[in-house]
Amino acid sequence: MLKINEIYYSVQGESTKAGLPCVFVRLTYCNLRCSYCDTEYAFYEGKDLSIEDIILEIRKYDCSLVEITGGEPLFQEESFGLMRQLADNGFEVLLETGGSLPVNNVDKRVKIIMDLKTPSSGMLKKNMYENINYLKKEDEVKFVIGSREDYLWSKNIVETYSLNNKCHVLFSVVFGKLLPVELVNWILEDKLNIRFQLQMHKFIWKPDERGV
Ligand code: SF4
Repeated sequence: MLKINEIYYSVQGESTKAGLPCVFVRLTYCNLRCSYCDTEYAFYEGKDLSIEDIILEIRKYDCSLVEITGGEPLFQEESFGLMRQLADNGFEVLLETGGSLPVNNVDKRVKIIMDLKTPSSGMLKKNMYENINYLKKEDEVKFVIGSREDYLWSKNIVETYSLNNKCHVLFSVVFGKLLPVELVNWILEDKLNIRFQLQMHKFIWKPDERGV
């Protein structure tokens, strides 16, 4: 059984899959407490569902793209089996993970979208940099940037780990804390070969809307 916070159908708001219809499976619990967290309701709320029940619910939406998110989905051991069974059933699976738990046992058919937590998140010490060794070319590393310090830190990490040669790299702003134009200007000034992104769903719906 897995503790599930919500399952819903919406438009993918981030990543290289942004803009595509997607079924989201939000797992309960998180081992982190980021300063900018917008899904605190997923820390404890949820109901127990079997993998079979989850797949039945996903099938109702007739959509082949599924994102496993949280909270921190890898906090629940059974999430690995869920992703494997979804891939076995022909779904294209995305995993959104905070980057503090091992990803080496994630099914290789799953596209990993992994945060590396910046200084202003307050969770810098939780980053598990060994995870970078297990990323595939099609996986993504995401930096959520809330300040100039965060930007410089992120830029340094991209260089230190040659992230551009290993996977996609995404920079986005902490919503309401750093203006998108500031981050874009820094990226262009430094000629960084990374992808800037906005959390699209925060502009389509109200920024604090749940289930979108
Ligand atoms: S990892 Fe995600 S869900 Fe967990 S505290 Fe940070 S932002 Fe919130």
